[in-house]
Amino acid sequence: MKHLHSGKVRDLYELPGGELLMVARDTISAFDHVLDTPVPDKGRILTQLSLWWFEQLADLLPNHVISTDLPDGAPAEWAGRSVVARRLDMVKVECVARGHLTGSGLKDYQATGTVCGVPLPPGLVDGSALPEPIFTPTTKAPVGEHDEPMTFEQVEQAVGAGVAARVRELTLAVFRRGAELGRERGIIVADTKIELGWAPDGELVLADEVLTPDSSRFWPLDGWEPGHAQPSFDKQFVRDWLLSPASGWDRASGAAPPPLPPEIIERTRAKYVEAYERLTGRAFA
Ligand code: ATP
Ligand code: MG
Repeated sequence: MKHLHSGKVRDLYELPGGELLMVARDTISAFDHVLDTPVPDKGRILTQLSLWWFEQLADLLPNHVISTDLPDGAPAEWAGRSVVARRLDMVKVECVARGHLTGSGLKDYQATGTVCGVPLPPGLVDGSALPEPIFTPTTKAPVGEHDEPMTFEQVEQAVGAGVAARVRELTLAVFRRGAELGRERGIIVADTKIELGWAPDGELVLADEVLTPDSSRFWPLDGWEPGHAQPSFDKQFVRDWLLSPASGWDRASGAAPPPLPPEIIERTRAKYVEAYERLTGRAFA
């Protein structure tokens, strides 16, 4: 198999038949740094969560999954954290939906009263629930550059009005499904990013990963309190420790964060397992 690409937490290969093999590592990132210390099982947990969501969403749209069997020549340790997928012609837009306001959306709102051109009521603060979910697409920036917000009109110009409307509709439908189910299980899905691609037969297909803590913001519902940054469901222990004197790390220095202590790793792993088990209702084996 041919190595195509390595992102922050995944590796991408091309199989001899032209399919993609996506392999999730146990790597975790925080404060825009990829940490040296892996979180055991994170790759498997997120891969299995994404696969579960693809099934839950199958009535809304098709997905890129071909098989979860390890292809010939793949190391046994990739089992459970790799997916063979259809290689698609990706829509050149990061499809983001938000139900709560934070991050770059909050910054945009504070500067303009809108997010990606969508007007919002006054008085919203960090963590506020939006009156209804909104589509807040961004560009897919090349490595090293930041994704820029796009207005719906810009998406129309990029992909055509009909496709833009369909992309928005699908993004919001996936988000709504995720947010509703999350809420029932005590997790706020504040926002999410999906990726769509074209199959050769002209069908729009859900690709990449879906409704995982890496592609979405998960907040514990019982800790939600607008007005400040919300606790992160999965990464809070990591963030708190990195910012504490115990880590000795100065975020402003730009230096790489130090290795995580074992109990921070273990508690973080437990949060990933908890997210998986709460959402899917299955035990993580
Ligand atoms: P980051 O680590 O910030 O996410 P990245 O997006 O470059 O960086 P990955 O997410 O690991 O790294 O890369 C996955 C790549 O594969 C993305 O460019 C995504 O658009 C692409 N991709 C996902 N599914 C498919 C598919 N079915 N067909 C073609 N490309 C796909
Ligand atoms: Mg990516």
